[in-house]
Amino acid sequence: MSILNKSILITGSSDGIGKSLAIEFSKLGANIILLGRNSTKLDEVYDLLDHSHASQKHLIIEADLALLSNEAAQEILIAISQEFEVLDGIIHNAAILGTMSSLEDYDLSSWDEVMKVNLRAPFILTKTLKVMLESASQPRLIFTSSGVANKGKSFWGAYSVSKFGIKGLAEIFKDELETTTNIKVFNFDPGKTRTNMRASAYPAEDPNTLKSPKELLDCYLWFFDKESSNSPQSYFEFSELSNHLNSND
Ligand code: NDP
Repeated sequence: MSILNKSILITGSSDGIGKSLAIEFSKLGANIILLGRNSTKLDEVYDLLDHSHASQKHLIIEADLALLSNEAAQEILIAISQEFEVLDGIIHNAAILGTMSSLEDYDLSSWDEVMKVNLRAPFILTKTLKVMLESASQPRLIFTSSGVANKGKSFWGAYSVSKFGIKGLAEIFKDELETTTNIKVFNFDPGKTRTNMRASAYPAEDPNTLKSPKELLDCYLWFFDKESSNSPQSYFEFSELSNHLNSND
């Protein structure tokens, strides 16, 4: 099992896709580092994690990514290194939608918050935690993309711009890290998924027409699999990757 005994940080694991991944990864024997801003929700997810594998343990990191500084990231590094010898992966999953409005009307404080959570925090966390990733045997850095990361779309404002930024961040980290370290970098668009964020963006949509977060599991497992170590491609969309995985069945 590719994630057995691996220690994986999942940002935004108090809800939605991150929560589902944390629970499912723990069932497969991973040590989960939950990161979120709401301690009550984090405690609830912690209680749902599987603890049944030998020497399996999990950690909660309460942090508001909108407020993340270099110092706060250093504290996160210390907290993780006190519990785990290495860090096998980071899934940069946390994000906020911000305001859905035209750029002309876009509120500046909302713009700044979206940029901080969605783009600045993954940058600071990656550069701070890189030292722990490098010690792992097959480390993974997974960024989260979106359908509005490749083509600008009206009213998606800061969220869309932040995901364009993630594309650049992932490509630059890939170029810098894959030549000098064993860290493998991916940028994944999970596609339409039944979560609170999707419901906020599309309030008139019937959630039952959408896939559940659990259906993303095989894609995320593949990123941690040995097979993906040789992939020259770093950007994947859900439909493409799941078709590829199904065709290998
Ligand atoms: P949710 O809104 O359901 O979950 C987002 C998570 O991020 C929550 O745990 C939330 O915490 C956390 N978070 C938000 N702000 C902060 C912050 N300031 N500090 C720490 N944690 C924070 O979103 P999804 O699960 O839908 O989205 C997950 C990822 O997938 C995102 O990157 C999103 O852009 C991407 N995505 C989602 C799609 C979809 O259809 N759902 C489609 C394409 C991409 P809290 O519980 O406190 O709110």
